[in-house]
Amino acid sequence: MITSLTALTDIVVVGSANADLVTTVARRPAAGETVLGSDLRVSPGGKGANQAVAAARLGAGVAFLGAVGDDEHGQLLLESMRSAGVRTEHVRTPDRPTGIAHITVTPDGENSIVVSPGANGTLTTADIDRAASVIAISTVVLVSLEVPMPAALRAIELARAAGVRTVLNLSPPGPLTADALAALDPLIVNEHEAGWLLGAETTSADGPALAEALLALGPRSVVVTLGGRGAVVATPDCVSTVAAPRVSPVDTTGAGDAFTGALAARLSAGDELLAAARFAVHAAAISVTRPGAQPSYPTRGEVRA
Ligand code: ADP
Repeated sequence: MITSLTALTDIVVVGSANADLVTTVARRPAAGETVLGSDLRVSPGGKGANQAVAAARLGAGVAFLGAVGDDEHGQLLLESMRSAGVRTEHVRTPDRPTGIAHITVTPDGENSIVVSPGANGTLTTADIDRAASVIAISTVVLVSLEVPMPAALRAIELARAAGVRTVLNLSPPGPLTADALAALDPLIVNEHEAGWLLGAETTSADGPALAEALLALGPRSVVVTLGGRGAVVATPDCVSTVAAPRVSPVDTTGAGDAFTGALAARLSAGDELLAAARFAVHAAAISVTRPGAQPSYPTRGEVRA
């Protein structure tokens, strides 16, 4: 039997997989302070795994390229990805614990996060090279930066060499080469990450101005996500604002990943960037009305409804 696995790869996701250890608190502790919170909730997360699950749940054929530990959290992540239909044969299991994100959520749905990278920190350029053939036949390569920068840059380089559309979520922010920036279509950032890239002079700039300033740095296109205000899409031809639907957020953890995974899914299906962003704000809006990251991501039917 000819395996159709490689033929089904629309998107290769290169990024992290973390167990999210979530506690709800009435308010964040100040330095030196202790506050009591809710029971601990453990759920599958990490930017790469989140984006992979978000895209797969929307119908894209997704392969995840990353690393988890040989432990309970690693199993949780593999099961979550597999049950969403994400292919995990390119996941390596080094002798390190699975990455962890310590997350506190406040009643307004906002979160603050400390990440311990663990296995994610072992991803190498050799791991990326081993998946070169899958990257070459995919439609979109989607990269985020909770993995070592050399591995992320290598994925961008291989995608560019193969003429594969490259989407980078510059999160957490890190320095990119000019070559890598020039390959991105789009570069996706939230407002914090946009500020990091552009420096202090843009702190008062609005979304469209941020997106235009980012476009001038060299990527082919830019998406700036603006939380409850939606997103801005900038291409050399035009800058467009996409409003988010009005919802009552309960947990915004992984909203940016829901957006990014959904955007990649629609790009791989052939949508234009603006149409993909319109779809993505709806997928992300649904995700903030439910607890958790991966468990909150909608199916295509839910977004269309
Ligand atoms: P990140 O999670 O990376 O910080 P944002 O906060 O900008 O990213 O959120 C990403 C996307 O999630 C937004 O563009 C929007 O589509 C959606 N989103 C986030 N917060 C809300 C909200 N309160 N209401 C509706 N949509 C939201």
